[in-house]
Amino acid sequence: MAKSEKPVINRVSIWLDDHLWRRVGYTTILIYTHKGWIPVELIPHKLYWRYINSGWILRTQLKIKLDHRYKRLLVYFVFVKSVNVDENNVKHVISIDVNENNVTVKLLNKVYILETGIKRITVGYAKYREAVQSVKGNGYVGRAVHGRERRRKKDIRLKIANIIANIAKNLNAIVVLEKLPKHCPKNMIENVKDSMLRHRIYQAGFRGMIKAIEEKCLERGVPVVKVDPRNTSSKCLFCGSKLMRGDAPRQLKCPRCGFKAGRDVVAVLNLERKYLTLKGLVPLAPMPSEPTLEVAVLPMKEWMRRKSLDATNKHKLMRMNI
Ligand SMILES: [Zn+2]
Repeated sequence: MAKSEKPVINRVSIWLDDHLWRRVGYTTILIYTHKGWIPVELIPHKLYWRYINSGWILRTQLKIKLDHRYKRLLVYFVFVKSVNVDENNVKHVISIDVNENNVTVKLLNKVYILETGIKRITVGYAKYREAVQSVKGNGYVGRAVHGRERRRKKDIRLKIANIIANIAKNLNAIVVLEKLPKHCPKNMIENVKDSMLRHRIYQAGFRGMIKAIEEKCLERGVPVVKVDPRNTSSKCLFCGSKLMRGDAPRQLKCPRCGFKAGRDVVAVLNLERKYLTLKGLVPLAPMPSEPTLEVAVLPMKEWMRRKSLDATNKHKLMRMNI
């Protein structure tokens, strides 16, 4: 199947330690080779200047990559910045539960369910790819489609992360996230037989979403805490019993005290409680933290253009007594 007689290395990328490269001014670097120091003139990306001008520190390691197609050398810089996160100033708690199809955010006495539609994107692209790749020699198209899928998901992740970081910054809040094990998808799919479902769980990228939120918060100096998510979507908030499946999809109910709520709502309330309990702020005896809770489901088009969640108050919220 090979097109050449010998194996060919197409992608070369090299990490250079500090003794192998040097910076001269801002747009030239010297790279140490077998022919001595070779100067390389840079055409910096606009982000380079943004980092240089906003107090980020250049790390001493550098990555270079040969781009045969455009006959150029790509130079990757690593910038670091230490952030001061002040947890003492925290006034509120924002808890977040990440699912395949939504990101649920609890702030003050409101729960926002931000629909992400990632399930639809993954399934849609998987089917499209399957159809395209069944045509011989179409592997290239398949890869291009994969790139498009990844970019769309990344876009969604970054927008959600921005919204959460903004609102947390404005409210002086700490953000509570689930602490997921390293290989979450693999463990989750062990018993899943349906290959489409397995693919979806793999692709959902829970970790990616959580990581994006965490990074954006740290960038803004918003404190983040990660708590163990065990039982957060299966335990009754009031009596601690194991919740049962409710009457509607994703609804849960307590067989003992009759508490009823959506799975996502239960999860954010439990995550918040876990954090508060950790801090010794909530009595261990079950007690509702808020008398009423408002729940809003926001389709993607409702939140995509927003910078924060303050502006969504005009939405009719579903009132829930707990
Ligand atoms: Zn209960």
